[in-house]
Amino acid sequence: MPEEAATAPVALGAFDEHHPPAQEIIDKCVHCGFCLPVCPTYVLWHEEMDSPRGRIYLMKMAAEGAASINSEWVGHFDSCLGCVACMTACPSGVDYGKLIEATRAQIERRYDRSRGEKLHRRLLFATLTAPRRLNLLRWPLLAYQKSGLRPLLRGSGLLKLLPHFVTSMEALLPKLAAREDLPEVTPAKGERRKRVGLLLGCVQRVFFSEVNAATARVLAAEGYEVVAPAEQPCCGALLVHAGEEERAQQLARATIDAFERANLDYVISNAAGCGSNLKEYAHLLRDDPAWAERAKNFSAKCRDICEVLSECPPRAQRKLLVARAAFHDSCHLQHAQGVRTQPRSLLAQIPELEVLELPESAICCGSAGIYNLVQPDAASELGDRKASLIVPLRPSVVVTGNPGCVLQLRASLERAGHPLPVLHTIQLIDASIRGVSLESLL
Ligand code: SF4
Ligand code: SF4
Repeated sequence: MPEEAATAPVALGAFDEHHPPAQEIIDKCVHCGFCLPVCPTYVLWHEEMDSPRGRIYLMKMAAEGAASINSEWVGHFDSCLGCVACMTACPSGVDYGKLIEATRAQIERRYDRSRGEKLHRRLLFATLTAPRRLNLLRWPLLAYQKSGLRPLLRGSGLLKLLPHFVTSMEALLPKLAAREDLPEVTPAKGERRKRVGLLLGCVQRVFFSEVNAATARVLAAEGYEVVAPAEQPCCGALLVHAGEEERAQQLARATIDAFERANLDYVISNAAGCGSNLKEYAHLLRDDPAWAERAKNFSAKCRDICEVLSECPPRAQRKLLVARAAFHDSCHLQHAQGVRTQPRSLLAQIPELEVLELPESAICCGSAGIYNLVQPDAASELGDRKASLIVPLRPSVVVTGNPGCVLQLRASLERAGHPLPVLHTIQLIDASIRGVSLESLL
C-alpha cells in the first residue's frame, strides 16, 4: 500500500497553492446527477465516489481539509478515465476537465506512489512520449510478430505468468507494417487552399504511420499544402492527463517552437487525445510570461482533421466504398473538442458506405491515454462492453478518430471472438478518393 502524503499544514486543506482545483468550478456543481449515466466508472460500479459528482465532492472535502490525499482518495481519481463525458452531460457547465487536471497534478506532487507504480509510470512515459525510443521497439516487436512466437506464447498460457501490465501491453500491440514516412512538405494538388501543419503523434507516427500518410494524401487532394516538421516532439498529451505538468509544459514549448517557424494557417491533428491537448496549450502555459501569448496563438490555430475537411466542400471525387462502418466516437473528439457531426458528414460523402451508430456512444471504450495500461481490469470491462454493442450491428469495419481507441477496440473485439478491422476515419476517406478497397488496407 502506498504511503500517505506528507501531513504538513498547507493552505487550501490538503492541496498546495499551485493551482489547486478551482473553488469556483467546484461550487458550480449542483449535485443533480445528470452526469452519472455517462460516467464509465459509475456505469461499471455504481459507486458514488467513482462518479463525477462524487469526485467533485472529494475535491471539495480535500480543499476544506476534511479529507487527506491518501491511497483511498487517490484511488477514486486514478480510476477516472478523464473522458470528460460528464462535461457534455452537465447542464451547469462544470468544467470537470480543468478540475481533474489540477487534481492529478496535485496528486503527483503531494502523494507518494508505491515504488512499483512509480517505476511503471516512468517506463510508460519514457517510451510512449519518445517517438525515437518507440521506434527502437519496432524491430523486436516485428520479430515477435513475424516469428510465430506470438500465437505460441498466447496458446501456451505462459503470458499469464507475466505481470498484468505486460500482458495488457501485449494484448494491445498492433500488427506492424512497413513505415510510411512523410516528406517535410507535401504540395497541394491544384490551387492551394491553405498551408497546414500536421502533428505526427508518437504512437501514430511509429505504429500507425499509414494513418499519417492517408491524412497528408487527403489534405493534398483537397488543396492543402502539408508541412510535417521533422523535429516535432511528443505533444505531451499523456503527461498532462496524468498530472505530469512540468514535463508536459516543456514538450508544449518545443511543439509550439517546431510549428511556429513554418508559418501555417492551421496545425492539424488526427489523434483526438493529442488534438485536445494542443487546444489547451494556452491554459497549460498561462503562468509563463514568455510563452503565454505564443501558446494562445498556437492553440487558436489547432484543429482536428475532420474539422478542417468539413470547412470547405470536397474537391476530390469520392468513389464508392461498399462497407458497413460502425462509428465509434473518441471521447477526446466528441467530449473534449465537441467534434461529433463532422466525421459523420465526411463519411456520408462516401458513396455506398453505410454508417452505423453505436448505442451508448457517449461512453468511453476504456482506452483513455494510458488508462488501459495502468487500470487494465476496468479498461477490459469497458472494452468488452463496447465490443458487445458493436458485434450485433454486424459491421464490416469499425471506424474511429484516435489511435488509442483503435488499439483498444481491436483488442476488445478479438477477445470477444470477433476480430473486426478497426480503422481511422481518414483511412476510409483516403480509400474512397483513391478508389481502393478496404481489404487493401488490412
Ligand atoms: S471524466 Fe469520465 S470517468 Fe472521469 S468522472 Fe467524468 S465521466 Fe467519469
Ligand atoms: S451534471 Fe454537473 S452539476 Fe450535475 S452532478 Fe454532474 S457535475 Fe454536478
